[in-house]
Amino acid sequence: MSKSAMMYEKLVELYDALDSTTKRLEKTAILSDFLKMVGDIDPENLPVVTLLSLGRIFPTWSEEELGIGSKLLMKAIGLVVGVTEEEVEDQVRDSGDIGAASQELFKRKVQSTLFMQHLSIDKVHQNLVKIADISGGRSQYKKLEILRELLSSASPEEAKYITRTVLEELRVGVGEGTLVDAISQAFNVPKETVDRAHMLTNDLGLVAKTAREEGVEGLDKLTLKPGKPVKHMLAQLSPGYKESIKEMGYALCETKYDGIRVQIHREGDDINLFTRRLENISNAVPEITEYIKKSIKPANFIVEGEIIVTKDGKPISFQYILQRVRRKYEIDRLREEIPLTLYLFDVLYYEKPTLDEPFKDRRKLLEEIVEVIPGKLELSKQVKVTPETSDLALNLFNESIEEGHEGVMLKDPNAPYTPGLRGKRMVKWKATPETLDLVVVGGTYGKGRRANLIGSFLLALQDENKELKTLAHVATGLDDKTLLELSKMSEPLITRKVGRKVEMVPSIILEVAFSEIVKSPEYESGYSLRFPVVKRIRTDISIDDIDTVERVESMFANMKLI
Ligand code: AMP
Repeated sequence: MSKSAMMYEKLVELYDALDSTTKRLEKTAILSDFLKMVGDIDPENLPVVTLLSLGRIFPTWSEEELGIGSKLLMKAIGLVVGVTEEEVEDQVRDSGDIGAASQELFKRKVQSTLFMQHLSIDKVHQNLVKIADISGGRSQYKKLEILRELLSSASPEEAKYITRTVLEELRVGVGEGTLVDAISQAFNVPKETVDRAHMLTNDLGLVAKTAREEGVEGLDKLTLKPGKPVKHMLAQLSPGYKESIKEMGYALCETKYDGIRVQIHREGDDINLFTRRLENISNAVPEITEYIKKSIKPANFIVEGEIIVTKDGKPISFQYILQRVRRKYEIDRLREEIPLTLYLFDVLYYEKPTLDEPFKDRRKLLEEIVEVIPGKLELSKQVKVTPETSDLALNLFNESIEEGHEGVMLKDPNAPYTPGLRGKRMVKWKATPETLDLVVVGGTYGKGRRANLIGSFLLALQDENKELKTLAHVATGLDDKTLLELSKMSEPLITRKVGRKVEMVPSIILEVAFSEIVKSPEYESGYSLRFPVVKRIRTDISIDDIDTVERVESMFANMKLI
């Protein structure tokens, strides 16, 4: 432990301060002062504290996870405080969340433990890391023991935030955006520089440390590294293919495959696959690793593509791919049943970073390094289109729909790869009507035969401060099986019940189609949806990726134009 190791109560003070205001600028200032202070008195802990300020223990891309569910946590709380699990559950229901409930329960405990050992940030962090390292036999029991030991030294305020951190729901209203701003303020470096370093490394702990120690120069030197996923470059909707092509000068037009986007990293002999949420799915799809090994000769590289499920050369429903990606067992059998094809479309690193090179050169490089394995590993189909030959884009679009794909992408040949940004230099043109990705924040139980099922879900989108704003209730589109599954998924997320209505921790994301956007004072966003229908449950994106109030505003404006 370093000499000036900070106490966890300092972090508690920070969380309380952040929680006391809803204003983003104030939050940024509070966080920035705190990071500066940590940098001055305990610089070694800066990376850890930076992550903890977001309620995280590991960077987003890390494979490590605590693996503690709310049941186990409640058990630990019960043991420490000396009450039954049911009492803990009741308190959670009354208080609305596990943190507030722990604080209440721990107040009772304090009187009996006068000589409590004070918790340092190091101690909390190390114990949580230890929990993540546990696997194999009796792992739940071992996790419980560490948790119990840790919590037994906690004050009520500390317990509030430790328990929330364990469940990864800190709820002090700080997102990555606020933290980026705070790092920029604390260490006096431009926000754009911090942003870029963040997008490339996905490790805000490292970014904060580098900003403090080496300033802009150090941050500029941070770059992507095979093995560490980069946030994916995202596409905007094309306002119309002719317009997009004109805007780009000319465009590279590609088939848009409807599967799951993967970033594939090779570092030495290690090959890892990451999803858009930066989840590592390598073990679930071993054949893709084999294809990559066969098709691209060994080097350190990062390539990107889309994995789809094909039967007899034809793409089949997107839902199958989730069965593959989520599976931990019987992978060999599923390999036969649900065969995958990878379509590669970009290269971000090949012996050196290539992401700043124009897309047309990256594509050329991709063609040079990839040897196609028909039906298994292919390159995305691509044609060059100019404003004069824009019909070629229409042809590819029609062909793509006929073959069962989703539409086309139009890409600016001169654009660099911009991680994490949804720009105009790569646009999509889909056949299906637009849908919105929304997060479930509440629901209403049904009546009669459906009294134990949540039949209607309250959905929200995010505003520019990443605050959730309600938009609509959705009740249709789900078959009975999915409805049941969704109800089950919802249950552990419920924080409050009033009559048939419930409030839920935002976690489940639904893709929703609708007939029209209308203005509505009933919902916090100021808008609502007519005839919303659930298309599917989206487990491939995170809350950060849900749609925005801004997008709904612009869709509303566009609808009025048609
Ligand atoms: P959307 O998910 O509707 O925002 O569309 C963007 C997604 O299309 C990307 O994130 C990729 O997963 C996927 N995609 C499919 N084919 C391509 C392609 N040829 N180039 C780029 N992205 C593609």
